[in-house]
Amino acid sequence: MATETGIHDTVQRVTIEVTSDESVATLLSTQEQLGSDGQGITVWGPEALLTRHRAVLRAALPAAALNPRPWQNPPDNIFAAGTPLSTTSPVLAPPGFRALPAWGKAPRQPVSSNFESGSVSQGSGVSFADAGQKGAFCLCAACASDDTRCIYASVESVYYGGECETTTYTRVEYECLECGSFTHWEFHHTR
Ligand SMILES: [Zn+2]
Repeated sequence: MATETGIHDTVQRVTIEVTSDESVATLLSTQEQLGSDGQGITVWGPEALLTRHRAVLRAALPAAALNPRPWQNPPDNIFAAGTPLSTTSPVLAPPGFRALPAWGKAPRQPVSSNFESGSVSQGSGVSFADAGQKGAFCLCAACASDDTRCIYASVESVYYGGECETTTYTRVEYECLECGSFTHWEFHHTR
C-alpha cells in the first residue's frame, strides 16, 4: 500500500513552504538552532528555488523531504499544473513494472459510454525524452533530484454522448534513482 511522502511513514509530517532565497536561509538557520536533521519535515516550494538550494538543503536537512512545486501556469504549456506526490511504491505503474520491457504501449483500458481512454505506456523505466514526455515536470517529489526514470505515462480524452469534450488528462509516474521514491502527478487540461 502506497503512502504519500513516504520516506518516514511513521512520522507525523510538517510541511514548510519556502518562497524565496531568504525563506530558505531562515529555515536553514532555524533548523541549525534546533539541531534538527529535518526528520518529519517536508520542504515545499517552487521547482527553481528548490533546485537552486538543493545541495545545501540536502546537506543540512538530510532527513527532510524536498517537494518541488511545478512552475506556475504558462497558459500554453500542458505540463504546467498538477500536484506531484511521492510514494514508497508505484501508484500508476503496475506492481511488477520492473519485469516489463523498458517502455511500451499498455493494453487499452475498457471504454465506458462517457469515457474513452487514450494511450497508456509503461515499463521498467526510460528517460522522459524516450517516454515522449520531454519538458514534463520530472523532479522527484521527495528529494528534488532530476535523476528520474519514467515508468508510466498516459494521455486520455473524455467523451460525452459520443462527442469528444477535448479534455485531456495526462498522468505520469517516475522513479527516483537517487532516493528510490516514486512520484506521480496528473494534469487536467481542457482546450
Ligand atoms: Zn528522490
